[in-house]
Amino acid sequence: LSSLYGSLQGLATAPVEFATSVVSFERVFEVIDLPLEIQESPHPVTITQPRGELSFENVTFHYGIDEKNLLKDVRRYGQVDQVSAVLSGDAPQTAPALSQARETALEDISFSAHPGQLVALVGPSGAGKTTLTYLIPRLYDPGAGCVRLDGVDIRELSLDFLSSMIGMVTQETHLFHDTIRTNLIYAKLDASDQEIEDAARAANIHNFIAALPDGYNTIVGERGYRLSGGEKQRLALARVILKNPRILVLDEATSHLDSESESLIQEALRRVMAGRTSIVIAHRLSTILAADQILVIDRGRIVERGNHTSLLAAGGLYAHLYQTQFAEGHKPAANGQ
Ligand code: ATP
Repeated sequence: LSSLYGSLQGLATAPVEFATSVVSFERVFEVIDLPLEIQESPHPVTITQPRGELSFENVTFHYGIDEKNLLKDVRRYGQVDQVSAVLSGDAPQTAPALSQARETALEDISFSAHPGQLVALVGPSGAGKTTLTYLIPRLYDPGAGCVRLDGVDIRELSLDFLSSMIGMVTQETHLFHDTIRTNLIYAKLDASDQEIEDAARAANIHNFIAALPDGYNTIVGERGYRLSGGEKQRLALARVILKNPRILVLDEATSHLDSESESLIQEALRRVMAGRTSIVIAHRLSTILAADQILVIDRGRIVERGNHTSLLAAGGLYAHLYQTQFAEGHKPAANGQ
């Protein structure tokens, strides 16, 4: 059995670029479990003029079970004896829930996102959308097939380089108990105050910050000034703008935002996505309408692909999801079937 990396929960809620690029920030390691099994190639390469072409070639991925995560797995899969059975290699007969989860990770995923394109991932809960995005910064490596950046298998790339290419915005933005400035600058350690402010303006968060009594010196994070979900997400977008990666991986928020925050975020997103290759787990109608390609994921497979019009006309799963989740204006989709 292959083992899982540390706490996926931690990884899911923390900004990924932190894990590999800003190693001097030791605090990082208090909140992120590095996926220790991800090894850098002994002869790591970089790409001199990256274009941002991202492709998946026949990618298959199954989660393993890690004894360290046994408790979590017990919660996820039910009985202790089932998990023990899996650890002793007797999985399929004795742990049906687990073997089902193993089947449903990712199967034979192939697609290309051309430089600057927006690719939207849609599909029912548990379909594998998040898992797919985790393979892009190598939180996990595929069991079979490969992920390429500009034609290079990402396992051959230097981890620092790969990290510098990817900006990841998850639904939960992790903030350190520190000033807003510090929370932003870790995306680009040599950023000037002007650069930080420009990024915050582009992310539609500067005016909000400037109106705080301590401005950019306001302490946020645990026990600090409490930011709303929309404000945190705009800070996360400002980080991406500062970092300036070729690839943006975004899990759109499902939470309800008031319409002002919503439009501030949409506008910021348009700026962040411009000129970057974006892979977005889409929960908003505006995003799927703007997508160059929509990949419909179900039980780990791409079951349909196309644009909104062609997929709607096909009358399949997308049409069903559209009717049930997206059709009523721009309201966030329910996170389920
Ligand atoms: P949602 O829209 O609800 O976030 P999703 O489409 O993003 O769902 P994933 O979170 O990628 O789906 O999950 C795909 C499958 O992998 C599910 O069956 C899930 O239970 C399983 N899975 C996710 N994380 C793990 C893990 N750490 N260990 C084992 N199985 C996992």
